[in-house]
Amino acid sequence: MKLSAYLFVAGLIFISCKEKKQTETTDIPVIKTQAELIADQYAAFRLTTDVSRLSEKEKQMIRLMIDAADIMDELFWFQTYGNKDSLLSSLPDERMKPAVILQYGPWDRLDGNKAFIENVGEKPLGANYYPVDMTKDEFEMAQFKDKTDLYTFVRRDASGKLITVPYHKMFEKELKKAADLLIQASELAEDPGLKTYLVLRAEALTSDNYRLSDLAWMDMKNNVVDLVIGPIEHYDDQLYNYKAAYEAYVLVKDVEWSAKLERYRKFLPELQKSLPVDPKYKREKPGLGGDLNAYDAVYYTGDCNAGSKTIAINLPNDEEVQAKKGSRRLQLKNAMRAKFDKIMVPIADVLIDDEQKHLINFEAFFGNTMFHEVAHGLGMNNTINGKGLVRTALNEHASAIEESKADILGLYLVKQLHSKGELQGDLHGYYVTFMAGIFRSIRFGSSSAHGVANMIRFNYFNEAGAFTRDPKSGKYTIHFEKFEKAVTGLTRLILTLQGNGDYTGAGKLIEEKAKTSEELQLDLERLKAFNIPIDIRFEQGIKVLGL
Ligand SMILES: [Zn+2]
Repeated sequence: MKLSAYLFVAGLIFISCKEKKQTETTDIPVIKTQAELIADQYAAFRLTTDVSRLSEKEKQMIRLMIDAADIMDELFWFQTYGNKDSLLSSLPDERMKPAVILQYGPWDRLDGNKAFIENVGEKPLGANYYPVDMTKDEFEMAQFKDKTDLYTFVRRDASGKLITVPYHKMFEKELKKAADLLIQASELAEDPGLKTYLVLRAEALTSDNYRLSDLAWMDMKNNVVDLVIGPIEHYDDQLYNYKAAYEAYVLVKDVEWSAKLERYRKFLPELQKSLPVDPKYKREKPGLGGDLNAYDAVYYTGDCNAGSKTIAINLPNDEEVQAKKGSRRLQLKNAMRAKFDKIMVPIADVLIDDEQKHLINFEAFFGNTMFHEVAHGLGMNNTINGKGLVRTALNEHASAIEESKADILGLYLVKQLHSKGELQGDLHGYYVTFMAGIFRSIRFGSSSAHGVANMIRFNYFNEAGAFTRDPKSGKYTIHFEKFEKAVTGLTRLILTLQGNGDYTGAGKLIEEKAKTSEELQLDLERLKAFNIPIDIRFEQGIKVLGL
C-alpha cells in the first residue's frame, strides 16, 4: 500500500515533469513531427529493372556509373545548400534526417521552400551559387567575367568584389574522380556510341565544355545502358535561372517501348506547323535527329532526386546542339508508373467526378507526359523581335513559362495526333487524366516551375469554364468542349509570350494566375487527410538492383 502510494506519487511527479518539459520546449516535438510528416509525403518505390537482360559488362558499367552518380550528389549538396555534413551532424534529432536528405537541405521544396528546422533562416534564392549577401542590383551593376555562365559560382575576392569560380575549378578533385569512373566504364562499353560519349563526358566534367559530349550523346542510338550526368538544369538557381545543378540518372533502355515512341518522331515538323499561332511564331524547325525513348531508371542523384522526382527528361539543353541534332526525350517508365499508381489514382478517387473517374488510365498519363517532352522541342528558342533567346528574355520567369508551354502544348499535340488516328484510346481519357494531373502537380507548390505552371493552368481552365466543382461532393467534372477551347487558347497565349520575349506579360500571367484559391487549398488539404503521398522517394542502389 505504501509502496504503491509512493509509486503513484513518483508517477505523478514524473508525468508533471514531462509535461512541463514539453511546454518549455514545444518547438522540438512540433518540428520533429513536421520533418517526419514531410518524409511521409513521399511513397517509397524500389528502382529496379530486369537485370537478367543485361550483359556482365553492362552490369559492371552500371556499378561504375552509380559511383560517379554519387559524386554528383555531393556536388549538388554543396550547390544547393553548402556543407551537408555539418548540417546533418547539427540536427537536434536523428528523426529529421530522412526529410533533410530528401530535400537536400532544411527547406521543404514542395512547400515554397519553408524551413522545417529551427533557426536555419530562409533559403537564399541563389542557393549557394551566389554570395548570400549579394543583392540583385549589385550583381546587375557589376562587370565580371562569365557572370551569367551556366557553370560558374559567383563569389567575392579578397577585396569583396564579385568574381566567378568555374565548377571544374571549385570541384577539381571530385570531378577528376568522376571522370576516371566514366573512363573505366567506357572501357567496358561494347556500343561504340556509348564508348565515345563516356570518354567525351569525362572530359566535359573536368573542363565545363559540354557541347562535344552532348553531340556524342545525341549520336549514340543503340546503347542499352545510358548515363545522364553533369550540371544540367537551372531551376535550382531561383535568383536568375543561370546556374546549372549537378545530377545523374543511370538508365536502362526499354527497347520495345522505345520502338513504339520512335513512331512519333516523324510527325515533329508537321506538328510544329499545326501550332495554333501566327506563322511568325512557328518558323523554327524542330530538330529531326531527335528521338524518344523509354527507360527504367535505376539510380537518381543530385538535382533530379531533390524533392519531387522527374519522370521524363528532354535533353540536351544546349540550343546549338538542339538545332543540329534535335533532342532526346527520355520517358522514365518505372518512375512514371509509380506516380500513377501511388498518387494519380488515389487523387482521382477524391477529386474527380464519379462519372468521369473511369476515364483515367496509365496509357493517357504516359501519353500526356511523353507529349510534354515533345512539346519542349517545339515552338521557339529565339524571340521573333530581336530580344535574343526566349530563355534570357524571360529571365526568372523562363522556367515556369516553358513548363507551362510543355504541358499545355503537349495536350494540344495529343488532340492533333488523335484526330489523325495516330494515337489510340479515348481522347476524353487524356483530358480527365490531364486534369487529375493538375491536382497532382499543384501540390509541388510555388517554388517549383511545375507547380507554378499547374496553378496557371488550373485558374485559366477555371475562368474558361473547362471544369466545374460540385460543392456537395467537392469533385470536379470536365466539360470537354470548353476544355478543348481552353487548351488551344492557353497554348496560343504562352507561345506568343515566348515568341515576343514578353517579360512583363509573363510576369503578369504568373502574378495573376499562379495562386491557389481557398477552395482549392481545402481540396488539397483533403488529399492530405487521405494520406495521399505528394511524391515518391527511391530505394535504390546496387543491392536493390540485385547486382
Ligand atoms: Zn518539362
